[in-house]
Amino acid sequence: YKNNVIRTKTNLLLKDKNKELILEKEKTEKASKARSEFLSTVSHELRTPLNAINGITHLLLEENPKKSQLHYLASLKFSGNYLATFINEILEINKIESNKIEVEHIPFNLKELLTDIKSSLNGLAIKNNNDFKILFDDKIPETLLSDPTKLSQIFMNLINNALKFTQNGAVTITTTANLISEDAVIVYFNITDTGIGIAEDKYETVFESFSQGSVEINRKYGGTGLGLTIVKKLVSVLGGEIQLQSKLGEGSTFNFKLEFDIDKNLAENNTHLLV
Ligand code: ADP
Repeated sequence: YKNNVIRTKTNLLLKDKNKELILEKEKTEKASKARSEFLSTVSHELRTPLNAINGITHLLLEENPKKSQLHYLASLKFSGNYLATFINEILEINKIESNKIEVEHIPFNLKELLTDIKSSLNGLAIKNNNDFKILFDDKIPETLLSDPTKLSQIFMNLINNALKFTQNGAVTITTTANLISEDAVIVYFNITDTGIGIAEDKYETVFESFSQGSVEINRKYGGTGLGLTIVKKLVSVLGGEIQLQSKLGEGSTFNFKLEFDIDKNLAENNTHLLV
């Protein structure tokens, strides 16, 4: 009888504990949803007037402003662009964290994607006098299936950082393919620079939101401290994991591997046409 009483009491206690845990979980989920909705609303509300400010700044700059006005307009343009990037990055992180992000699986050409990114960042390479190269492994099939928008975001952020934190140096992107079957390929990506480098005790923190190398770095190079947070999340959404090796004063390498399905449709269609 005594044993039964103890068992019943223990069961009741466990049930209460379970109930408590479920309530706690529901509370956290509710709070997280509210935070996400708040961030999303605020960001969208800020974006509309900011677009107007940036648009008008652009127009004024086109209208041959006086020399004395040029300085103010340039400053307005810089701050406007910074805020726009910041808001877009907050929205992006929010989307990923609340699992609202959808991953596409569409055909694209990796070589073209990287060449386009190289053209759009060439100006920064020239400005900082950097040798800027992309080494493309020709074993990579012409058409792969993945999410090219997310891939572009990953490369834009990593290469932009590499070029920004390097002066009179070299930024090299390498791609190496490992064909694992007729339908799939693993591509290893390395983004290497010979820039200011990252101290070993910062390897983890640079990937956290709003984290920057140091106050001095922030003052000198600008930036939001959100780029690598987005990169880490996007690489993971695509099934990879980003790694960092670096030495202060010597440079950094960010690397990750991704598996891609190979798009066979094009080849098959061509054969069909030939027959
Ligand atoms: P930011 O907008 O500040 O560049 P990121 O999240 O992209 O934000 O990077 C976070 C911090 O990591 C940077 O402020 C910088 O200190 C460091 N960092 C990122 N990439 C590099 C790099 N290639 N070389 C040196 N430091 C880097």
